[in-house]
Amino acid sequence: MNLKQQQYINGNWVDANVGNTRDIINPFNQEVIATVAEGDASDTKAAISAAREAFDKGEWPTTPATERGAIVRRIAELIERDKEELARLESLDTGKTVEESRGDMEDIAGVFRYFAELADKDGGELIDSPIPNSISKVVREPVGVCGQITPWNYPLLQASWKLAPALATGNTLIMKPSEITPLTTIKVFELIEEAGVPAGVANLVLGAGNTVGAELSDNTDVDLISFTGGIVTGKKIMQAASVNVKKLALELGGKNPNVVFADADFEVAVDQALNGVFFHAGQICSAGTRLIVEERIHDEFVNALVERVKKFKLGNGFDEDTQMGPLISAEHLAKVEKYVETGIKEGATVAVGGSRPDDPELQDGFFYLPTIFTNCTTDMRIVQDEAFGPIITVEKFRTEEEAVKLANDSIYGLAGGVWTNDIAKAERCVAKMLMGTVWINDFNLYFPHAPWGGFKQSGIGRELGKLGMEEYTETKHIFQNLKPESMNWF
Ligand code: NAD
Repeated sequence: MNLKQQQYINGNWVDANVGNTRDIINPFNQEVIATVAEGDASDTKAAISAAREAFDKGEWPTTPATERGAIVRRIAELIERDKEELARLESLDTGKTVEESRGDMEDIAGVFRYFAELADKDGGELIDSPIPNSISKVVREPVGVCGQITPWNYPLLQASWKLAPALATGNTLIMKPSEITPLTTIKVFELIEEAGVPAGVANLVLGAGNTVGAELSDNTDVDLISFTGGIVTGKKIMQAASVNVKKLALELGGKNPNVVFADADFEVAVDQALNGVFFHAGQICSAGTRLIVEERIHDEFVNALVERVKKFKLGNGFDEDTQMGPLISAEHLAKVEKYVETGIKEGATVAVGGSRPDDPELQDGFFYLPTIFTNCTTDMRIVQDEAFGPIITVEKFRTEEEAVKLANDSIYGLAGGVWTNDIAKAERCVAKMLMGTVWINDFNLYFPHAPWGGFKQSGIGRELGKLGMEEYTETKHIFQNLKPESMNWF
């Protein structure tokens, strides 16, 4: 493979300090596709020192924002140039279809472009000082050294949401991708080097969460942690980060409701309910896994979903006609299977799926059939827990109030959808739905201009949009007295 398989620390490509490596597996056939450095706390400390020195030296934070923006734009151009290679690498590493990965790479280039454009657009603000003969202004400055930890489901997309705003605002950083899917992140660090980001500003450490991730979270030289991943890990990071009261941005899980009223456009709602869950085999934080359907159309809606699901083509992400690839790992497949068993025990009905496929060609991969559960109630674990697999649960409602109550009955609050042709009804529901993003007559759509993040236990802070940029800044108020006078108090 024409890819560096090392870490990038202080402008150098390096093996792990103690020489450990990790095999990276293709989830379609379990073949080893790369063997990368496996860093530990000592590699992480070296990267933190490099980032600390680069920040404290002050060159990058004080580089004119226009120049920083130009470098971030150059990264976008290099991603555009290498997008096919990146897409193929992402599919090899995650099992998702190349078509999906190609879409991801377009989005990722767009994220770098968006933050490049924002880099020099905030020149601070003069505020009306109530004190005579004074100037009062508010400026935004970079936070400092940022630890960035990403998950395996959208490896490079999630990394781009963190790298681009951190660099554009003048921070230095240490990125730790998921140990299962580091390949496209390594490749982008090659592009970051090529784009001219100075040594020490952006560092990459490869390795496990409980070593590299834990060191980033509790090292007092790190000023901010931006984490995307599961809720259990998020809580651990919050605790560790309290050591020096780090700034925290947490993008955690979701169990997202998709509410379908009887007056919705039936065919489109069916189609989007499927898209909303089964892309990347349901391994999407914003997947619309809790389908909440008005009783009048419930049976017809479920039948339409089941008929479509039966025709899904599972297979190798590199085959043109594949619609759904495998799950990420044997461990994750076992977790999804366990959730289905639990759902059955709890009394939900498997309308379709509910097992691994028996196709002999899929036996080496971590495949699970797309699964729909009916007869679900909110007290079931299958309705409450994030299984993070190709599973939809269906609940029924009669009234608008009941639909909103079901939608909000979750510890999570990442995203949700409402399908209806009655706009007033949609607006009434949306106003009461406790989620960071709500789609009306759509699902799972996002773009760099709009903020992304969760209510409740789905997280803290926002990525993307202007707010995603602000996460990487501290606000400073500068007051200047133009006519200093003694107070003569003491
Ligand atoms: P995970 O929490 O297991 O791992 C995420 C990252 O945290 C990995 O890099 C891992 O190595 C690291 N990590 C593990 N233990 C750690 C520790 N003690 N300290 C520091 N870092 C540690 O999550 P995952 O299984 O990789 O990803 C799936 C989860 O990510 C799902 O819950 C999904 O909803 C969530 N996710 C959320 C969003 C969002 O935008 N809200 C986007 C994508 C994924």
